[in-house]
Amino acid sequence: AQSAKESLYVVSQYAAAFFVKQLWETDEGKGIGLSYFKERGFREDILKKFEVGYSPDVWDAMTQSAINAGHKLEFLEATGLSIKNDNGKIYDRFRGRVMFPIHNFTGRIIGFGGRTLKTDKNVPKYVNSPESEIYHKSNVLYGLFHAKKAIRDLDNCYLAEGYADVLSVHQAGIENVVASSGTSLTVEQIKLIGRFTQNITILFDGDAAGIKASLRGLDMILEEGLNVKIVSFPDGHDPDSYMHHVGAGAFKTYLEENRKDFILYKANVLLKDAGNDPIKRAGIIRDIVESIAKIPDPIKASVFIRECSSLLEIDEHILLSELNKMRSAKL
Ligand code: ATP
Ligand code: MN
Ligand code: MN
Ligand code: MN
Repeated sequence: AQSAKESLYVVSQYAAAFFVKQLWETDEGKGIGLSYFKERGFREDILKKFEVGYSPDVWDAMTQSAINAGHKLEFLEATGLSIKNDNGKIYDRFRGRVMFPIHNFTGRIIGFGGRTLKTDKNVPKYVNSPESEIYHKSNVLYGLFHAKKAIRDLDNCYLAEGYADVLSVHQAGIENVVASSGTSLTVEQIKLIGRFTQNITILFDGDAAGIKASLRGLDMILEEGLNVKIVSFPDGHDPDSYMHHVGAGAFKTYLEENRKDFILYKANVLLKDAGNDPIKRAGIIRDIVESIAKIPDPIKASVFIRECSSLLEIDEHILLSELNKMRSAKL
């Protein structure tokens, strides 16, 4: 008999195939799901590559189909795909949503993200699978299975926020991209990228939340000893919307020309609100040195101190002594 864990992989694979079939072969799936993807500008080859699907807008279509195919409710419930309510009625977690299966890095399906097609603000935009024996959110990066070869070959990993971002960046011909989808970036996710490359380029959304997440993310990446660069997008855009807005060619160029190291990125973001106020400027310089102090390699750190010194026109020795104070305070 197969292990319980194996059974969770099997029902997840079944559900993914069910959602794919709904998208491409049913009137509801084609009329609502596929046309939604097409309107957003996604190409068919990308939709197929990522095995996206559609969950019908009825209570238990997926669960019934899986049961009829011989799968056990116990395992469907354990993945969170099927839910039993207080009255003992069974229903599908994902209904009337476009479906993004989440693969582990060996390619097995371990969970799903489902996006609503409704514009109603009270409906959550995304529903994600819950934690299960096969799905541990903090250890998973969306898209890693499809990106890992390119990440190794190109020795860089683009890190985005969402499912659609990963698909659109791929569609632009850039395959070394993953997303932290469904959770804010974790140390485990950074370590996972570190198995393939030491270089991460953050591509978070160009809104206040994205900027905040970038600042937090770059410190975490530096602390893990990896190198980080950041590409920011105009406010209101994320990598997905921007790629469709400017087109694949211009998007590629944009990534190449707007990649900033973390000193320049932080200086740009923070100085925007500071103007010429000397006290605020001093605070910003300290903030940047705090990021540099997270870098474990002292030689790398000293290179960034020099850059910070020339960019912000502060004596290098002052920055170095500040750095050393911060380092010894950490010990
Ligand atoms: P889209 O382009 O389809 O509107 P997005 O990826 O740009 O989606 P964001 O609002 O930027 O959506 O959120 C980034 C990511 O955070 C999503 O891809 C999803 O993984 C997660 N997320 C967003 N909203 C929710 C939610 N209500 N519940 C759980 N996860 C969410
Ligand atoms: Mn966002
Ligand atoms: Mn977004
Ligand atoms: Mn988006």
